[in-house]
Amino acid sequence: MNLANKVLLALILGMIAGLIINVAGLNNIAWVDQYLVNGVFEVVGKLFVNALKMLVVPLVLFSLIPGIIGIGDVRLLGRIGTKAVVLYLLTTAIAITTALVFAAGSGIGKGMDIPHTSDFTGKEVTSFADILIGIVPTNPIAAMADGDMLAIIFFAIFFGIALLSVAKQSAQLVSFIEQVNLVIMRMVTMVMWFAPYAVFCLIAKALAELGIELLSQLLGYFLVLVAALLFHALVTQMLFLKGLTGLSLGMFLKKVRTAQLFAFSTSSSGATIPVTLRTMQERMGVDRAVSSFSVPFGATINMDGTAIMQGVATVFIANMYGVELGLAGYVTVIITAVLASIGTAAVPSVGLVMLTLVFNQVGLPVEGIGIILGVDRLLDMLRTAVNVTGDAVVTTIIGKTENRIDLEIYNDPEAGMIDEQHEAEALHLKP
Ligand code: ASP
Repeated sequence: MNLANKVLLALILGMIAGLIINVAGLNNIAWVDQYLVNGVFEVVGKLFVNALKMLVVPLVLFSLIPGIIGIGDVRLLGRIGTKAVVLYLLTTAIAITTALVFAAGSGIGKGMDIPHTSDFTGKEVTSFADILIGIVPTNPIAAMADGDMLAIIFFAIFFGIALLSVAKQSAQLVSFIEQVNLVIMRMVTMVMWFAPYAVFCLIAKALAELGIELLSQLLGYFLVLVAALLFHALVTQMLFLKGLTGLSLGMFLKKVRTAQLFAFSTSSSGATIPVTLRTMQERMGVDRAVSSFSVPFGATINMDGTAIMQGVATVFIANMYGVELGLAGYVTVIITAVLASIGTAAVPSVGLVMLTLVFNQVGLPVEGIGIILGVDRLLDMLRTAVNVTGDAVVTTIIGKTENRIDLEIYNDPEAGMIDEQHEAEALHLKP
């Protein structure tokens, strides 16, 4: 069985285990709660997510610099950047519009009265001006230490351009960076071996702790949101991909699945960057020049799934509070959500923080977010998978339209698959 299928199996088994624990009330038993759900599941899951996160900064840095060298032309770089910004913002705007249509059309929340189950107080959100200012780091080492992605991307591109202009004198440095990149890519593959166990633990824990009663109360919200997410991922994004590239959708969906599963299990596009990048480069053949920029950039600024959640949540809460948003309100939601998606980190639950911003703009009470908080964990998993799919779609589009995709790799179902036998031999694990 290949790795993607193993991960899928782990996911299903994890769901079953989590649901059994939840429904049978096993998490009320002290040892199950302490040693299993918050013990083994928590530790194994977190270790894995940490290992992925550990690789993000070095990977982006050492993959983007040789990527820039590979482009070899600063004008081309500008074109790739422009395409990425336009496509990412456009797809996010379409995503939220879809959400508003789905939510307003279904009338969810009207006449409902659900008490807040948890308090939600808004957090400080960075202003748009500060986000722009932050793109140029005053201290690149601090930016790397904080995982400040836009600043890291800026530094790497700048470094790459400078290196390009002195490439003849610094051939050794270029090959050094290439070699480090090779090693880090290898580390990504090695971390991925452990995915089946970790995914089982992450999912089992998430479902064991899911408030099932709450879910039934919020079923309308949940279903409309899931429908809008599926529509966006399976219709809108696929139309974009087919329309702009003509590539096989079946092949794309087959290969993107690994990244989707990782996104779903970790609820973090940021932690999934290593897997998305590997998928784009080794499985789909998108040149490093495009993918090593587009993937981390997309993980940071492109959040289609999150935007959809914001659209549906805004209409839902507005309906519950009897607030009429009107056309002006809808336009405000679209603009705010698109801008908010640029400035927030790709980590679990950040979508709720962004929602604060939207609520403030349209004058909805921020405490309203407390109503949907209880079911957000599960929805976060789904929307993160949609976020990552969006990054992969745009990266493929840029790769194809810039002629920087190896179609032989793209169309080869086996390309870049993790072959455990081969991996084990490379590690000298065999006698
Ligand atoms: N968890 C999402 C992500 O990392 C962000 C969110 O919607 O909370 O992409």
